[in-house]
Amino acid sequence: MATETPIVIFDTTLRDGEQSPGCTMHHTEKLRFAHQLSGLGVDIIEAGFAIASHGDFLSVQAIAREVGAAEHAPRIASLARCKREDIEAAARAVESARKNRIHVFLASSDLHLEAKLRITRAQALENVDVAVRLARTFVDDVEFSTEDGTRSDLEFLIQMITVAVQAGATTINIPDTVGYTTPAEYRQLFETVRRRIPGSDQIVFSTHCHDDLGLAVANSLAGLEGGARQVECTINGIGERAGNAALEEIAAAIATRHDRYPFKTNIAMHQLYPTSRMLGEIISFGAPPNKAVVGKNAFAHESGIHQHGVLSNPLTYEIMTPASVGFTGQNIVLGKHSGRRALEYRLNELGHNLSPQEIELVYVRFIELADRKKNIYDQDIIALLQPAAGEELVNNVP
Ligand code: MN
Repeated sequence: MATETPIVIFDTTLRDGEQSPGCTMHHTEKLRFAHQLSGLGVDIIEAGFAIASHGDFLSVQAIAREVGAAEHAPRIASLARCKREDIEAAARAVESARKNRIHVFLASSDLHLEAKLRITRAQALENVDVAVRLARTFVDDVEFSTEDGTRSDLEFLIQMITVAVQAGATTINIPDTVGYTTPAEYRQLFETVRRRIPGSDQIVFSTHCHDDLGLAVANSLAGLEGGARQVECTINGIGERAGNAALEEIAAAIATRHDRYPFKTNIAMHQLYPTSRMLGEIISFGAPPNKAVVGKNAFAHESGIHQHGVLSNPLTYEIMTPASVGFTGQNIVLGKHSGRRALEYRLNELGHNLSPQEIELVYVRFIELADRKKNIYDQDIIALLQPAAGEELVNNVP
């Protein structure tokens, strides 16, 4: 595996994620989650937007001090607009981290420049130049993002990136701010930009994808194929509107389809599920049950055919093991589609070893119950072992 290309995982759960509805986190919660992200092995934590509020500033500062000071700590970043006060606040907030970054952004699409910022293209280029140079007076590591990059005029986008690189930006992020691009288009964009920007082999290009069309992860992976070497993502895919690319899905795709994505990350895979759970406990919602990699049902099998297969050999219906991502829940779920094999398996786990005749008897009762009841719990199964009036007792009920 000497050809593995390292990928920088840039987590923005505490910035892009936190600024979406229902995801507000308090100071101590942010700090606790930043420690978890550090243990997960992300390379960069975007800890917040220091100028946004005094509280945000204090959180970024505390994360830089308490999480970012350790020897192998992730790099700590703060977002900043192309404004002096933003950049100065970001610089102060991240200064005590061992490794830090100021992440400066400006819109590159005419729509944003005209409707939102009300500045000309020439003014935009001037702002980028001044802001990136100012940021570089505080830190060596400056990232520049072309907001709404995927809906920007290509020639102007290239001009803006060239200005940012000449001013000292070392990471260039081309965000799909509104979740509009497609995999092939996004891949091609990185290929073109890398070809056209002078000295682009010294620059790390980055993806930042939103999930408005459900393509955030696919687009991020396509960006890597196009030569991007940093992925911006969030736990559980939280973020503005439909969310960001989900970190756990990107990490799992790289690990599981290493043949197609020969990349290397520092993610401790078995921490994915605990991290997802912790986020769900902190904010107002967890991962949906059918969420890839970390959903409650991501490894669940209820139908008899699938259960039989998985109990015989997990590879029949599992492309990764639940344990590999730290999943601790029950994966054989009993319901009306389940077969004798799964019922027997669950009874064994609960300490009941029944004869084939007894299994048959309990199975009939089980299907009857499962037809009426949506969720079958362990206590329901145990209750099935008790004899109904006039029925034969199942022998070895303890
Ligand atoms: Mn975003």
